[in-house]
Order: sequence, then C-alpha cells, then structure tokens
Amino acid sequence: MSIPPPNYASALPATADLVIIGGGIVGAATAFFAARAGLHAVIIERRPLVAGHTTMNATGAFRAHFDNPEEMALVREGIGLFEHFGEIAGLAGYDLGLRQQGYLWVATTPATAARQRELVARQHAWGLTDVEWLDGERARERFPYLDPTVVGARFRAGDGWLDVRKLTHGYLRASQVPVVLNTAVTGFDLTGGCISSVQTERGRISTPAAVIATGPFASVVAAFAGLAVPLSLVRRQRILLQDVPEMPGDAPMTIDDETGAHWRPAGSDAHLLWTQPDVAPGPPLEDVPTSQAYVYDVLDPASPHSVARITPFWRTVWERGTSHWYLRAGQYSYSYRNSSVL
Ligand SMILES: Cc1cc2nc3c(=O)[nH]c(=O)nc-3n(C[C@H](O)[C@H](O)[C@H](O)COP(=O)(O)OP(=O)(O)OC[C@H]3O[C@@H](n4cnc5c(N)ncnc54)[C@H](O)[C@@H]3O)c2cc1C
Repeated sequence: MSIPPPNYASALPATADLVIIGGGIVGAATAFFAARAGLHAVIIERRPLVAGHTTMNATGAFRAHFDNPEEMALVREGIGLFEHFGEIAGLAGYDLGLRQQGYLWVATTPATAARQRELVARQHAWGLTDVEWLDGERARERFPYLDPTVVGARFRAGDGWLDVRKLTHGYLRASQVPVVLNTAVTGFDLTGGCISSVQTERGRISTPAAVIATGPFASVVAAFAGLAVPLSLVRRQRILLQDVPEMPGDAPMTIDDETGAHWRPAGSDAHLLWTQPDVAPGPPLEDVPTSQAYVYDVLDPASPHSVARITPFWRTVWERGTSHWYLRAGQYSYSYRNSSVL
C-alpha cells in the first residue's frame, strides 16, 4: 500500500469540530489523536510548510530516563508509539528514522556518580528496570571512547532519537486532517465565554474548540482569547558537524552529567548541544539568531563545557579542523524553568 501525502487544503472549511492552530510536531500529534477520536479537525499554519519552526531545529531525541515517574510514564507511552508507528498509524513501512542507540549519562566526580546510583535505584523502583548503572571501568569496557576520568555512568539502551520532521509528516499522512498553509490565526469569537469561531487572515471557521499549538507563540495566540499563558522562552542552539569519522556511528546520546554538554551520531555526522544555564528569556521570535561562540563552548577542548572532557576523540576532531558545521537555534517554551532539562 502506498503512503498518502498530507492532506493540504487550499480552502478554509466553514466549520470544524476542532481547529488546531500551528503545524509543528504538537499540532500534527494533536491532529493524529483527534482523527482517531473521530473528530473533524483542521490545522491552520501561517508558514508555507509544516514542521518549519521550532520542530525543524530539534535533535529528535527521546528518553525514558527521567527523575520523576510521571514524565517517565508519559515518555514510555510515546516510545511505544514510535516503535510500532507504521502498524499503529496504518502506514506500513513508514520510516521515522528511529534509532535506539541509548542514552548514556557520564559522571566524572564521585558525588555525581553517587547521585546517579541513587537515581537509578529510584527508576528501578518506579518500574524502569532496564536502566543500568556502570562504574568507570565497566563504562569504558562498554564504551571504550570514554575518558579515563569517568567514574560512573547510567545507561538505557532503549532510548534514542528519530527524525522529527518525518514524525510530523507521519502524523499528518495517517490522520489525513486537512492542513491549510500560509494562513495566520488572528483572533477568536467567544460566545458566553466559550469559543464559537476562530478568525484567520482568510476568514472564520465556526468551531466549538481550538488547540493552540503555536510553540513559542502560544502566549500571543492565547491573548487573542483574553487568556494569560505565562511562558519563559529560552534560546537553545544545536550544532550539526559534518563527516566525523572519529565518532563511533553506533554510540548512544552521550551526556556529560557535570556540564550538560552532549552529542549523538547522525549517520556520519554529529549533533552537539550544551544546555547553557544562564540564557535570559526573551520574546517569541520568528527567526532565532545563532552565535558562533556556542561552537567554541562545545567543541574547543579548552572550554570547561567541551565534549572532549568525557570523550577525548573530540579533541582530534577539533585539531583536525576540517569538518564543516551548521548552527540551528530555536526557543524552548517553559511553563516553569528547570535548567537541568536537556
Ligand atoms: C535546539 C533544540 C533542540 C531540541 N531538541 C529536542 C529533542 O531532542 N527532543 C525533544 O523532545 N525536544 C527537543 N526540542 C524541543 C522541541 O523542538 C519543541 O518542544 C517542539 O518542536 C515544539 O513543537 P511545537 O509544535 O509546539 O512548536 P513549533 O514547532 O514552533 O510549531 C508552532 C507552529 O505554529 C505556527 N504559528 C505560530 N503562530 C501562529 C498563528 N498565529 N497562526 C497559525 N500558525 C501559527 C508556527 O509557524 C509554527 O509552525 C529542541 C528544541 C531546540 C530549539
């Protein structure tokens, strides 16, 4: 069976059971589950493509490795969906670019190693029994590219990453929810405090319900209905480094548990990130600027946040100096601020 394209619609529908505002991963996932619930939904996206804003900049990584049972349970359900996506979505053979190469958090101090052991014990108690804690020696046996200063690591083999644009398209292809592009939502009509229609640049859609899936612009769109949704928007950057033969292609997402710097393979390329702790929140941005200094923070072995700290082959990559890099940036939307989130 061939896989259908998304259902792009040129005309606005006059009515819908549900109007989904925004065609990123959240809007597409909402459309998928709305269609499964039998609702006639429509997605309204102001850009000329789906997955074209924050979603395009994501690393696509997922992990069950959380420090609380609620998020763990939520993500495990998501991972189950990713693992059987073609079958569940009715898109046999659809390729999400899923790679389950694991998540490896690496400690270089006894205090962090002790915290890791304690967390792994709690994760086991919450039912996530496939997380392992490894001492430095066992970690280097399994992952020989780790630095001799590594004293502990926690690892879950079933974590990994996927291509988030392919997932967005998968949701849209499976649901066949109409997607209207190049159309901004500009307001709501409310009757007795309840929504009666969504206003767009091209007219109104009569509806009893709307989902605001506008990423960093959620507060802006919610304000059209008189709602205050306080969000803290923080820039996050990602480096794509091309052609890195020094990097083992089967490596897990590898994270320095002391600094938050992390990397993962993407074919023969690499994604590298560092969660900067001191980024000031700002207004929602259409184009999020990048900064070259970020590359030096993550890659220069002289930086205290360098990925070479825990995986020394990055020093060779830096000294070789011939891999090209591309920087991407987007905004994380926090309804609370937790700088330890990756
Ligand atoms: C560098 C970086 C790395 C990341 N890595 C990961 C990761 O590894 N794993 C992970 O889970 N998450 C990751 N994230 C977070 C992830 O990217 C976001 O949580 C996710 O993409 C948000 O999707 P969204 O659909 O809510 O928003 P968006 O993708 O921003 O989509 C919102 C859409 O709404 C549209 N819109 C806005 N206003 C209007 C309007 N008025 N009318 C119509 N349309 C409108 C926009 O054009 C846009 O297409 C990362 C983020 C960044 C920046």
